[in-house]
Amino acid sequence: MKALIVEPSRMIRNVFVSLFSKNNISAIAVETATEALVSLEAEHVDFLCFSMQLKDMTGIDFFVQAKERGLIGKHPSVMLTSSNESVTAKAVSLGVTECFSKNEPSRFEAYVNHWAISSSERLNGEVLLVEDSKSQAAYLEKLLVALGLNATRVATGEECLDVIAKRKYDLVLVDYMLEGTMTGLGVIRGIRLLEGRTGKLPILAISSFDDVPRRIEMLRSGANDFVLKPVVPEEFQVRVSNLIQLRQALDYLEEQHSILYEMAMHDRLTSVFNRHYVNERAQILIRESKESGRPLTCVVMDIDYFKRVNDSYGHSMGDSVLVAVATVLSEHVGKNGIVARMGGEEFMVVLPGIDEFTGSGMAEKTREIIEDLEPCGLRVTASFGVAQLRPDETYENLFGRADSAMYEAKRAGRNQVVSAE
Ligand code: GH3
Ligand code: MG
Ligand code: MG
Ligand code: MG
Repeated sequence: MKALIVEPSRMIRNVFVSLFSKNNISAIAVETATEALVSLEAEHVDFLCFSMQLKDMTGIDFFVQAKERGLIGKHPSVMLTSSNESVTAKAVSLGVTECFSKNEPSRFEAYVNHWAISSSERLNGEVLLVEDSKSQAAYLEKLLVALGLNATRVATGEECLDVIAKRKYDLVLVDYMLEGTMTGLGVIRGIRLLEGRTGKLPILAISSFDDVPRRIEMLRSGANDFVLKPVVPEEFQVRVSNLIQLRQALDYLEEQHSILYEMAMHDRLTSVFNRHYVNERAQILIRESKESGRPLTCVVMDIDYFKRVNDSYGHSMGDSVLVAVATVLSEHVGKNGIVARMGGEEFMVVLPGIDEFTGSGMAEKTREIIEDLEPCGLRVTASFGVAQLRPDETYENLFGRADSAMYEAKRAGRNQVVSAE
């Protein structure tokens, strides 16, 4: 990419050249409007910046002349003023993209940095072109490929709905007139009726008719944006990038949200659920158990003399023991219910559909496995309390009874299972 700088001061010219080159943009710097006009005649530029005060004419006159000669393309044309001259409104009305004061160089610098990033950014993604005309599609595809995107074409709405159900796309371009029985409007409605991510796919509607009611209908039916054919290449590309980047940013946020949710529900050390999750989930399971009449059993487990592990072998050895015990619980009872770490070395298992007799048997089996486990070469045992939900019992009450039974097991000598009264 190339920038043209038109600026009388050599020092400022040098500052601007280095600003562009920092952004990997080569810049030609000239002193006068006459030189700039010659330069614009000779080669294409992607960014034009010029000073309001030039030696041979004003910046505004230079811009008007360049425009009259057809030298102002679709690139930004930015004017720099030396004071707060009230020329901005005039310049902008003539077609200057933006004006900056030389007294606030950081604003101009931020603009150039942002422009350089957004115009050099290569996108990544799959675009589906729903377009009956092969030649139109080939032209649009060229513009998409230039952005770094892959494009596939289908000629009918029916094919479009068929392929988007099978493959992940980042954007759909829908032409109004299509082969087959569906119009672009029908395709847009069809996509929006789909569930999940597919139903949220960005849609850019295209039409060669600048028909206002039709455009409104396409947007109302779920198109995110609209372009008129023949497309202005730069405008088309900016609209495409905006839609793709917005969708990708939303996907990223949704992904982060679900990661955070997972983290909030799990214990960091052992990866089993945490107290917060089990308290919430147990209420639901208890309600379901009361409604269905199926049993539900709660097991509370606490490692015996765990403090000694920490005191004798250190906290990190203690942590390894906690992970090993949690893994046993997950592997042996996890598939029947929820395993959670309630805090410290105390765990809880909620077993929907399981009565006290079966629950006690499972606890006994787990107790034996832990006794035989010897994590980190240490003898580790645990005490268990088991309670089955009573018809009118609350979660707090059920947990309280299982916890008391576990303390009963401690008092009775530890390393055993006690069923609640
Ligand atoms: P009891 O058989 O009566 O349950 O004795 P205990 O030593 O297991 O019980 P106590 O409540 O006296 O000690 C529990 C210890 O667990 C104290 C605390 O330092 C340790 N602990 C709590 N959370 C963690 C943790 O995340 N990692 C480690 N390594 N230790 C922990
Ligand atoms: Mg068409
Ligand atoms: Mg303990
Ligand atoms: Mg404890």
